[in-house]
Amino acid sequence: MDQLLPAEILEAGQAFPRALAACGDLDSLLRLKGIYVGREASHAARLMELLKVAPKEQKRDLGAAINALKQQWEEGLKHRQAELETAKKSLNALASSWDPALPPPTPAQGALNPLNRLMDRLVEVFRPLGFHVEEGPEVETEAHNFDGLNIPEDHPAKASSDTFYLAVHPELLLRTHTSPVQVRTLLRVAPDLAARGGVRFLAPGRVYRKDEIDPTHSPMFHQVEGMLVGHGIGMQHLKGTLEYALRALFGPHTEIRLRPSYFPFVEPGCEVDVSCPLCGAKGCRVCKGSGWVEILGAGLIHPNVLRYAGIDPDEWSGWAFGMGVERMAMMLSQTPDLRLFFENDQRFLQAMGGLD
Ligand SMILES: [Zn+2]
Repeated sequence: MDQLLPAEILEAGQAFPRALAACGDLDSLLRLKGIYVGREASHAARLMELLKVAPKEQKRDLGAAINALKQQWEEGLKHRQAELETAKKSLNALASSWDPALPPPTPAQGALNPLNRLMDRLVEVFRPLGFHVEEGPEVETEAHNFDGLNIPEDHPAKASSDTFYLAVHPELLLRTHTSPVQVRTLLRVAPDLAARGGVRFLAPGRVYRKDEIDPTHSPMFHQVEGMLVGHGIGMQHLKGTLEYALRALFGPHTEIRLRPSYFPFVEPGCEVDVSCPLCGAKGCRVCKGSGWVEILGAGLIHPNVLRYAGIDPDEWSGWAFGMGVERMAMMLSQTPDLRLFFENDQRFLQAMGGLD
């Protein structure tokens, strides 16, 4: 039947749905109506004239084709008209309900994620001691992430089962800790370390490990590390600084204890516990009745780490610590599932307002 219709009418038929959708108000819809189904000079009127002059044997088929087209147009126009009328009504209702004397609506105020606030707070605790913030890239080299930290070639952390290596650049990886910031900073300050009289800084940031996500693990999490290099620095300086910082965080009656531990980049190394801030060391679910909670790892910088950066370990020494931010936030807020910190549930984030 289509072959009976002129090409321009077929084109107009094809263009109809788009033209209809483009009508944003009743006036433009009225104009479209005139073009397609108006009494005079419309596509429909032209078709009726065609029908009049068509040979007798074509009239039935042509008539059916024309009716189908006209019906399609009329129904489309009617439907769109109803839509536009509804939209106009609701716009009018909105306009009549607007009271210019009322104060404007206040946009919802955003806030920093609780993890960022906790990291900021740690930075503020260390700032009066002369610590500044160092940052580094999240995509790192093996050298900065492992070699510069005295991590041996066969260390399990180097396995691709534990670390995200970049498929396109297998020598690059997503840093597994913030410690490469220490390597980068030491390398940078080494030439004028004597003129500076040492260095002290914090390195807060995101780190990545191939962990399945569950209530206490995530392939992405946050760390804050601290480092100090100077003359004659020993465990007493580490302990004194941590005591000061952890009391600033958890309260003046907080006690700390150091337990020997092993990390490749420190010697000696230790785990640091604080007296449970939730029960006042009486024993609760969080401290599993012991009165102590493990809070961070620390130690004196391994001579190889200093050597790698070109710093003479006979002249310089220092300490470093690292802590998991999620873990500390979970403990402070008694949140059982770290995923809550990433899921942006407004109810949780608002409840976390009291974290600091
Ligand atoms: Zn407790």
